[in-house]
Amino acid sequence: MTRTTERTVRGRLGLRRRMRRLALPLLLSAGLCAGALGTTGTAQAVDATVITSTQSGGRTVSFTFDDGPDPTHTPRLLEVLRRHGVKATFCLWGDHVRQHPHLVRQIADDGHRLCNHSMAHQDMGGWSQQQVRQNLEQTNAVIRQAVPNAQITYYRAPYGSWGQSPQVAASMGMQPLGWRMDIADWTPPGTAELVRRLMQGITPGAVVLMHDGGGDRSQTVSAVDQVIPQLKSQGYTFDQPAVR
Ligand SMILES: [Zn+2]
Repeated sequence: MTRTTERTVRGRLGLRRRMRRLALPLLLSAGLCAGALGTTGTAQAVDATVITSTQSGGRTVSFTFDDGPDPTHTPRLLEVLRRHGVKATFCLWGDHVRQHPHLVRQIADDGHRLCNHSMAHQDMGGWSQQQVRQNLEQTNAVIRQAVPNAQITYYRAPYGSWGQSPQVAASMGMQPLGWRMDIADWTPPGTAELVRRLMQGITPGAVVLMHDGGGDRSQTVSAVDQVIPQLKSQGYTFDQPAVR
C-alpha cells in the first residue's frame, strides 16, 4: 500500500466515523422537526397527497367512517364489521374521543385503522400551518389518552376543507385521506337507498366515505351489513386506504 492510498483509506475511515457520529443526532433532529417522534410514535413523514384509493388497487375497496365514536352506532357498526371479518378506517372527532374513550379502544382492539379528523370538526381551510398543527396534535393526544401508543395512520379534513392541512398531517406521519365515493348519508335517505348508492357507486380501488357519528347512523350501519356480502360475492376484498 502506498503512502497516498493509505492516507486516502484512513481519510475515508475517518469520514465514515464522523458520519456515524453525525448520523444519529441528524436523524433525531429531522424526526423531531417532522413531529415524527413523540406525536406519532415511530411514524415517518409521508407524502402530502390526498389519497382516494386503496393500498392494493384492483378489486378492493376501503370503507371509512367519520365523526365518531358514537355511543349507539359505533358499537353496532363494530359488531357488523366483526361478523363479516372486515377491517375499516375510523376518522375520529377529538371531542367524541374524549367522551367515549372505551369505544376508541374497542375500534383499535378490533384491528381497524385510526384517522385524525380534528378536535371539534373545525373548518381549517383558512388556518395557518401552526394552528392546524396545534389542533392535530391535540386530537392525537386525546386519541392516545384512550389508546396509548396508538398508530394514527391517516388524517381527514372536516368538510374536505384541506387548506394547508395535508402538509402538516404528512409532516406528522399521517397520510391525508380523501375519498372517491361519498354515500351522502348525512341526511339519512333510507337503508335501501344507501345500499343502492353503494352497489352502484363503488368502483375497484375506491375509498368510500360514510359516517358512524354526528347523527342517527342506523341506516348506514344496516346498509353496510347488507352490502358487504354482496361486494364479496362480486369478488371484492377489503383493503386499507393507500399510504405513500
Ligand atoms: Zn366529518
